[in-house]
Amino acid sequence: MTRHPTVETYPIEDGQLTVGGIPVDRLAQRVGGTPFFAYDRNLITKRVELLRAELPTDVQLSYAVKANPMPAVVQHLAGLVDSLDVASAGELRTALDSGTSPQRVSFAGPGKRVEELTQAVAAGVTVEMESETEAERLAEVGQRLGIRPRVAVRVNPDFQVKGSGMRMGGGAQQFGVDAERVPALLKEVAATDLDFLGFHVFAGSQNLNADILCTAHRQTAELVTRLVNEAGDAATPVRYLNLGGGFGIPYFERDRPLDLPAIGANLEAVLAELVRPAFPDARVVLELGRFLVGEAGVYVTRIIDRKQSRGETFLVVDGGLHHQLAASGNFGQVIRKNYPVAIGNLMDREPTETASVVGCLCTPLDLLANKTAFPQAAIGDLVVVFQAGAYGLTASPTAFLGHPPPIEVLV
Ligand SMILES: *Cc1c(COP(=O)(O)O)cnc(C)c1O
Repeated sequence: MTRHPTVETYPIEDGQLTVGGIPVDRLAQRVGGTPFFAYDRNLITKRVELLRAELPTDVQLSYAVKANPMPAVVQHLAGLVDSLDVASAGELRTALDSGTSPQRVSFAGPGKRVEELTQAVAAGVTVEMESETEAERLAEVGQRLGIRPRVAVRVNPDFQVKGSGMRMGGGAQQFGVDAERVPALLKEVAATDLDFLGFHVFAGSQNLNADILCTAHRQTAELVTRLVNEAGDAATPVRYLNLGGGFGIPYFERDRPLDLPAIGANLEAVLAELVRPAFPDARVVLELGRFLVGEAGVYVTRIIDRKQSRGETFLVVDGGLHHQLAASGNFGQVIRKNYPVAIGNLMDREPTETASVVGCLCTPLDLLANKTAFPQAAIGDLVVVFQAGAYGLTASPTAFLGHPPPIEVLV
């Protein structure tokens, strides 16, 4: 078993890992089979509480739905956070179904089609403009519908946020409008019938370095101040300032959890020095996906074969990369490393052998744990992959090889 601090968030009872208080073998019976994803609503709630305790009280929390769009998860989070961020018309529907007020929904992402923009404007959500073309389209849509679209501009900053698992800002990007072009865009926007609310800067995902995130928050506040000075009346009053997110979670042996108190203290200072004096009316938002749900989910598979091959042991499970691509190392990792994995019904046994957990797909990429120490596991035992609550099922090629999709439950 890969020992990992997060294992402690799922208590062990009679050798069984429990999720939401339910032993994993009982949960498998309740679900009706394997493989499945289980998300723990209490762990999600605790994450929000942790953030509320560590961040300034006037920083609002937005949930980035793409991290885990399961409707029950979105519904649960809708009651806990201040707003939802969506990245497609499909996610928009899920967000609105949760009862969240359209005024508390934002829509980001490149390449929004006119149909999607129409849906967003008709719903009354805030559209985060990713290009000049999108601004023109929104003005046309607004005119056609007789509605003044609520818009913000996503800025591609003139700085880079190092240390992110996926960089989404700085340099040349398909995301946002380059900072140096934003003042001119805002002057054009002011001449059309768009209701300009403010700014959004999101520069990267999966960052575990608090110093880097603190610098990014300060640089973002400075950048927006500069843009507002240049754009003048076209940008004021700023009613919305989305500082992005990118808070990471530990996946690998040497990863350490993010230092949230440091981020909270820095945000307090940035707000006091830069944001509040310049933009007293701005709703300041942090937009988080992975950090809210990533550690709150597990992916559970069953061993269907146990093979020896030339001195190595393979545990073949009924799931694989078609459900949990990230754990196979094929979703944005440069060097493949093991996600934390355990035999969920043998949690009280010491590791006695080294085995690889492979999925049931006919490709060598389908590797869930490479040469890992486990207790002796048999056919029928349950392999649990941790850190599966974000970018799991919906970030995986479900159709690949034609196996059935897994069940998802929120417990
Ligand atoms: C994906 C995304 C997020 C969420 O990122 P996490 O790393 O999961 O917190 C937030 N904002 C935008 C615009 C995104 O595209």
